[in-house]
Amino acid sequence: MTDDVDCVVVGAGVVGLAVARALALAGREVLVMEACHSIGTQTSSRNSEVIHAGMYYPTGSLKAQLCVRGNAMLYDYCGLRGVAHRRCGKFIVATTVDQLGQLHAIQARALANGVNDLVLLDRDQARAAEPALQCVGALHSPSTGIVDSHGLMLSLLADVEHAGGTLALNSPLALAEIDGNAIELVADDGTRLRAASVVNAAGLQAPALAARFAGLDARHVPTAYFAKGNYFTLAGRSPFSHLIYPVPEAAGLGVHLTLDLGGQARFGPDVQWVDNPDDTQVQPERGDAFYAAVRKYWPALPDGALQPAYAGIRPKISGPGDPARDFCIQGPQEHGVAGLVNLFGIESPGLTSCLAIAEVVTEMLSNK
Ligand SMILES: Cc1cc2nc3c(=O)[nH]c(=O)nc-3n(C[C@H](O)[C@H](O)[C@H](O)COP(=O)(O)OP(=O)(O)OC[C@H]3O[C@@H](n4cnc5c(N)ncnc54)[C@H](O)[C@@H]3O)c2cc1C
Repeated sequence: MTDDVDCVVVGAGVVGLAVARALALAGREVLVMEACHSIGTQTSSRNSEVIHAGMYYPTGSLKAQLCVRGNAMLYDYCGLRGVAHRRCGKFIVATTVDQLGQLHAIQARALANGVNDLVLLDRDQARAAEPALQCVGALHSPSTGIVDSHGLMLSLLADVEHAGGTLALNSPLALAEIDGNAIELVADDGTRLRAASVVNAAGLQAPALAARFAGLDARHVPTAYFAKGNYFTLAGRSPFSHLIYPVPEAAGLGVHLTLDLGGQARFGPDVQWVDNPDDTQVQPERGDAFYAAVRKYWPALPDGALQPAYAGIRPKISGPGDPARDFCIQGPQEHGVAGLVNLFGIESPGLTSCLAIAEVVTEMLSNK
């Protein structure tokens, strides 16, 4: 039997829920299909929970634009809805004199991206704020913060349901057939649904799922790559009150220190390319490299202080050694299928950008 529904959002991570909320608030009928038994069990609960400011990404990229807009939207939303968060600020630290140029480059890029609150600190100014820090200079970003990502997702879901939307858990989408006027969806259990609009927000699975959309040209489905990020928690009290980042590395932001809302410090994520998107086990021996990386900016890190914690997998659409790719928000203009939006490569800063991504997707589907 076939039912009709206006919009289906596939995936109840933070991005899918933000999109579902925006569509529901725009008056659309929304069903969220989630494969797992609960919302947000994948990448959205395996990250650093940092509200990024938007200084790293190429000027004009979606990552830059949506991070800057998403940062402001997220602070406003969390404030209004009582979602736990803290504008704790972050330091990007140069530990050698040759890295100072990178701080200047980040500040210049930040300004071009519309982030104009970065303050360059010399060694003594940085040490005055963070006495345990070893550096030759630092950039202070006051608008970087942290958020309770699960609290955020619960709040987004409450908004979806309040606006009349529905969440179906344990409901994996198996495939779709595109027939011109509508998209026919087939769930794993054989249930069929016809939807006018479909948003593929399946995270790590988004490319594999899109490859099972009959009628979508395979040229529009990128290859998925998986870059695991491992975290280690610090036993004992954090010596820092800001987030501490080294200057960025090729595929990630470097082994940084983040804090949770309870003040517990964790280090990570590193970059480990894997074939299996379910490979979230942390191998304790990876901690050895963490000691060396962290001691560059915190030499007093005691032996044995790092405990394996958790890992998240970055949903990449560029492979090892390739240039980083932007978020891919692929709508009818790109692939020619009316009513379909695919979200590919929504890695960091996807959590920060979720409300801004939702705005873009809703706009793309508004003419449907
Ligand atoms: C290590 C790491 C650190 C990060 N740190 C930060 C950070 O500090 N700040 C920041 O802004 N961003 C960060 N990010 C990025 C951020 O976590 C992601 O951009 C965001 O969580 C992506 O959300 P999502 O909803 O797209 O994906 P997900 O959370 O993965 O949700 C996708 C959902 O789709 C479901 N699904 C999959 N297939 C199907 C199917 N066939 N049918 C139905 N449902 C399906 C899954 O079960 C899942 O619930 C980090 C990411 C990683 C990996």
